[in-house]
Amino acid sequence: KNAIEVRGVRKVFGTAENQVAALDAVSVSIRENEFFTLLGPSGCGKTTLLRLIAGFDFPSAGEILLHGQDIAPLPPFRRPVNTVFQSYALFPHMTVAENIGFGLEMLGKPKAEIEARVAQMLKLVKMEALKARRTSQISGGQQQRVALARALAPQPKVLLLDEPLSALDYKLRKEMQIELKRLQHETGITFIFVTHDQEEALTMSDRIAVMSAGKILQVGAPRDIYDRPAERFVADFIGETNFLAGTVVSKKPGVAMVKFASNATIAAGYPDGFEPSGEVTLVVRPEHADLVPDPAKGTIAGTLSNIVYFGTDTHYHVKLDGGENFIVRHQNSRSSPVTYETGAKVGIQFEEDAARVLKD
Ligand code: ADP
Ligand code: MG
Repeated sequence: KNAIEVRGVRKVFGTAENQVAALDAVSVSIRENEFFTLLGPSGCGKTTLLRLIAGFDFPSAGEILLHGQDIAPLPPFRRPVNTVFQSYALFPHMTVAENIGFGLEMLGKPKAEIEARVAQMLKLVKMEALKARRTSQISGGQQQRVALARALAPQPKVLLLDEPLSALDYKLRKEMQIELKRLQHETGITFIFVTHDQEEALTMSDRIAVMSAGKILQVGAPRDIYDRPAERFVADFIGETNFLAGTVVSKKPGVAMVKFASNATIAAGYPDGFEPSGEVTLVVRPEHADLVPDPAKGTIAGTLSNIVYFGTDTHYHVKLDGGENFIVRHQNSRSSPVTYETGAKVGIQFEEDAARVLKD
């Protein structure tokens, strides 16, 4: 079942002469009890989409349904939706417990119910010991927990989280990523999480929507997005990618034969609904490619220009005979079979279906 359906939403800012479409024909369905992430670079429209769902702003066109009901007539406080902002927006003069209970007070809930709920929330975010502290006297990570507890206290159906971890340092961010996953799992609330950090999106999400310039380019599970990016932008934005220029020489359903400057021809997959032809760009993940010691038939020939050791893996930088740079990533083991030297002639080959032709 869907918690939220966004249908053909457009949002335009600015004057009649100088319009910016912050969102353009955005459609997406978010399932109940899902950890759903909006991922994209700064300015692509993530916050705008959250604000429309929360009701802080209205779409210029299109509609948003919550459990099948159009929510346009509902003001923000009547929507079963709550938001955690990047800045936390806590009240510094109030205690941790008062902050968590604030939303419930505003809703006019009975005192006993508020107390019980606050106690439950303090436990959920592990802040019982600090409940009487003012929020100006706790750390950034603790403030983050209080902001989460406050947003969860009124038991929203959907929680919107706008880059909630971006103010935290690396170690705390990693901790809070796990903590957020746990909270989502334990409460069963649908989370719509916004980030510009691709690693955060891959590690936390059930599904990800990749956004660019007001559009959603692809929606899928982390593995789908990573292994089968639908467009060049997605492949480039998520993870490391090699790009190779080639020419399509023949094609059968789902597989194109692509020829390179070095005269090698290889089989490459392509997404549904896209017909590659002529000059194309091929994408290959560094860990889906292999080095072979001799540039044999069926491999793309080049020269090893640099070897970078990372402990867990090694990156081999290859200057292809066609002039492009290509990186092959090998996982290290204690018995790596072949050792290479800079300057060696090598060939590159790909795992089956690793090379993909994508829309530019
Ligand atoms: P993100 O959260 O992905 O960084 P935003 O949703 O904040 O992106 O912004 C998307 C685009 O809409 C940007 O070009 C931004 O400048 C523009 N924008 C957002 N809010 C407003 C506003 N209130 N008035 C004018 N332009 C806005
Ligand atoms: Mg934003």
